[in-house]
Amino acid sequence: MRIKSIETITLKIPFGDLYAGPRAKRRGWTEFDTLLLRVETEDGVVGWGEAFAYSCASAVRAAVLDMVAPLAIGRDTADIPALSRDLQKELHIWGRYGITIFALSGLDIALWDIAAKRAGKSLSTLLGRQRNHVPAYASLVRYGGPDAIAAMTQKAVAEGYSDVKLHEIAYEVIAAARNAAGPHIRITTDVNCGWSMAEAEDLLPKMKDLDLFWVEEPIFPPEDYETLATLRRRFGVPLSAGENACTAMEFRRLIAALDYPQPSVTKVGGVSEFLAVAKLARAGRKTLMPHSPYFGPGYWATLQLAAHLDDVGLFEFLYVQPEAFCGHDIPLPQQGRIVIPDTPGIGFTPDEDMLTRYRVA
Ligand SMILES: [Mg+2]
Repeated sequence: MRIKSIETITLKIPFGDLYAGPRAKRRGWTEFDTLLLRVETEDGVVGWGEAFAYSCASAVRAAVLDMVAPLAIGRDTADIPALSRDLQKELHIWGRYGITIFALSGLDIALWDIAAKRAGKSLSTLLGRQRNHVPAYASLVRYGGPDAIAAMTQKAVAEGYSDVKLHEIAYEVIAAARNAAGPHIRITTDVNCGWSMAEAEDLLPKMKDLDLFWVEEPIFPPEDYETLATLRRRFGVPLSAGENACTAMEFRRLIAALDYPQPSVTKVGGVSEFLAVAKLARAGRKTLMPHSPYFGPGYWATLQLAAHLDDVGLFEFLYVQPEAFCGHDIPLPQQGRIVIPDTPGIGFTPDEDMLTRYRVA
């Protein structure tokens, strides 16, 4: 069946970070930007996708409408990985990473949603469903102070999470979370490339002493896999990366070097590339820890992939309170796990009122 139309909806959704105590400084990040794709095929089936768009929604929207849509409309959707690969080839001179692939990711997710809906099955059932729930971790935003991080870690643990991820880079803050959590809780920190080499050499042994489950993207650039592999060998702390890697081709190098590959379905190239990454991870005996700090179709697609792939270790749940969710009946973590829907497609049903309210003109 051929693609008839591709529309975009840009959303800006305010969120709270759940911390009520005193703060050292003002909150920096208070709104999510995301880009939804509504794709329709000639037989009238509608699919939804999401393209990563933090602080870059208008650029990603332009990539969808000016670059991807003119090539994709009228194309047959029988073989989605082949179509996505063709589009990647036609667009490769504008970059194999970043905005172009975010735009293609959104289309690919929507096409898989359509394929599963046409089959009358959930995406996971279409691909082969392995399980009905997945453990989730609380992915805390950066609070930057020991008191706030201790309070938020305890809050997540009290809600039943046994894994908590920080986005902290200072030793005393990470240590405060470790102490607050208690010994049976696994703690991880995401450095977002924030340490210099000297800081990494100083802090990684301390992360080992704190028994961190993994350290995410400790240094810049995130694709310096040789240096990351060396750090991992020298200090014995498990390392992860992948949210900034696009396509399975890039993951080939990453999977060999690191402990936990972290493909992001809205960035890596959609469901097709995520499945290709999972195949490589399985061959390399690595557990996937997907990147999924979003609440739109990308969230739902990641859950479907987790139902299909028991290689997915933990689901990343961004531990914040958005003003509203863009889909009806979003399956949220309960006691640290999420029950994965088995309804047609990726399971996403848009809340049209919400889309109108938070849409950016
Ligand atoms: Mg991260």
